[in-house]
Amino acid sequence: MFINGEWREAKDGGAFDSINPASGEVIDQVPDGSAADAVMAIDAAAAAYKDWSSSTAYQRSDYLYRAHALMMENLEALAAVMTREQGKPIQAARNEVKYGADFLIWYAEEAKRVYGRTIPSARPDQRFIVLRQPVGVVGAITPWNYPISMITRKAAPALAAGCAIVLKPAEATPLCARAVFEIFEKAGLPAGVVNLVTAADPRPIGETLLQDARVRKLTFTGSTGVGKMLAREASHDLKRVSLELGGHAPFIVCKDADPVHAAKGLSLVKFLNTGQACISPNRIFVHVSQMDPFLNELRSRVAGLKAGSGFDAGVRIGPLVNAAALEKVDRQVRDAVDKGAELAAGGHRLTEGGLDRGFFYAPTLPIYVAPDMRIYREETFGPVAPVIPYDDDADVLAMANDTNYGLASYVYTRDLSKAMWFFEGLRFGIVGINDINPTAASAPFGGMKESGMGREGAVEGLGEYLETKLGGFSIGTGV
Ligand code: ADP
Repeated sequence: MFINGEWREAKDGGAFDSINPASGEVIDQVPDGSAADAVMAIDAAAAAYKDWSSSTAYQRSDYLYRAHALMMENLEALAAVMTREQGKPIQAARNEVKYGADFLIWYAEEAKRVYGRTIPSARPDQRFIVLRQPVGVVGAITPWNYPISMITRKAAPALAAGCAIVLKPAEATPLCARAVFEIFEKAGLPAGVVNLVTAADPRPIGETLLQDARVRKLTFTGSTGVGKMLAREASHDLKRVSLELGGHAPFIVCKDADPVHAAKGLSLVKFLNTGQACISPNRIFVHVSQMDPFLNELRSRVAGLKAGSGFDAGVRIGPLVNAAALEKVDRQVRDAVDKGAELAAGGHRLTEGGLDRGFFYAPTLPIYVAPDMRIYREETFGPVAPVIPYDDDADVLAMANDTNYGLASYVYTRDLSKAMWFFEGLRFGIVGINDINPTAASAPFGGMKESGMGREGAVEGLGEYLETKLGGFSIGTGV
C-alpha cells in the first residue's frame, strides 16, 4: 500500500493473492488492508491537503504532465501487468493504458482553467465573485474491468482541482493499482497527496471512508447495488458523491442502416473486454428487414473470435473475471433459451486447449430475446449479444428506454433526421450514432437513472472535485 509517500505492509501484516484469470495462477501477493490502514491513509491525505490545495494550478499541472510522460514511457510494462492480472488481450491493454494516460494530460491542461466569474449585482455598492475551490479529501473506489484508466479518470481531475485522495482499487486488480501509484511516486507527488489502500474485503475500507467526516467526496465506479449503498451511507454527513454504475445499453440497427457496418461495429464494441464494460451493448434491436444481413455478418465475425490468454497472438476474447461471473453469464443464457430464445452462436463455457483453467465463455448470440427473459433487463457483463427484432421506430425508442439504466446507447442509421430524433429521445448519458467509441478524456462520461450521477472526463469531471463559493462584497459608497 502507498500511504503518506511510503510503500507499506498492512498494519496487521495480512496479505492476499492476485490471480491470473486466464490460468488461475497466483501472480503475487499484496497487503490486505483494514480499517486501521484506511484511517492512516485519510490522516495522510488530510495533512497533505493543506499545502496541496494551496499550491498553484501550474505546480499541480506539472506533476500531472510528469505522470503522463511516465505512464507513456511505461506503457508496455503496464499493459503486461494488466493482461496478466485482468485478462484482456495485450493490444486492448495498451489501448487502455493510453486512455488512462489521456486523463493525466487532459487534466494537466485543464488544471489551469479552473475559472471563477463575476456577476453583476442589482445593488450599486455590491460585487459578486464566484470562486471555485477543491472539495477536500477524496475517497475513491475503482473496479477491475478497466483497472488503470478508472484510477486516472478519478485521480487526475481530483489532483488538478487540488484534492488529496485515498484510493481503494478492486480486490481483483491490486497490481494494476500498484503500478499506477508507482508512477505517481516517480512523478514526485508530495507525500500524502495520493494514497493507496488494497484490501481483500472492501467493506471495512468503504465504511472508514464513509464514516470519516474529513473525507468530503466519494467517487465510485462499480455495480449499481454497491453504488446505491455508498450513496445512502454518504448521506449521513452529506459527502459529495459521484457514481459510475451499471448499464444496459441498447444498440439499434435501423431499417436504413448499413447492416454490415452495424454488425462490424457491434462485434467490436460488444466483445471488447469480453463484454465486461458498463457501456457494452446488452440489447441489440434490429429492424426486421435487417435481421438476415445483420446476423449473417455478425455470425461470421463471431466465428472468427479467438479466445485465450491475452498474450497469445490473435486472441480477442479474454477470460471473465472469476467463476461467479461465468456462472452469472451462463445462467442468463440458459434462462433466455428456456424461455424461447434461439442460439445463433455460443451458449457455453470454453474448456478446450487448457481454457478450463481460466474463466472463458464462448461469444454467444441469443436471438428473439423477449422482455420476460432476465437478460432483457439484467446487465450481463459477458460476451453475449442478445438480438431483438423490431418494426417501428417509436416502439424501439420506447423499448430502448424501458430500463432502469441510462449509461450508453448506440444507433445505426444513415438518416440525419432520424439520428437526431434518437439522440434527443434516448434517456442515456452517452449516445453513439454510427459510433461505437463515444468516449475520450475530453468528453463527459456518465449515466442517467440508476447508471449513476455526475460525469467523469471533460470540464464536467473537474467540476465534480470543486466547490463553488460566492463572495458578496459591499464596497459601501466607494473610496
Ligand atoms: P463488481 O460486481 O463488478 O465487482 P463491485 O461494485 O462489487 O462490482 O466492485 C466495484 C468496487 O467496489 C471494487 O473496488 C469493490 O471492492 C468495491 N466494493 C464492493 N463492495 C463494497 C462495499 N460494500 N463497500 C465498499 N466498496 C465495495
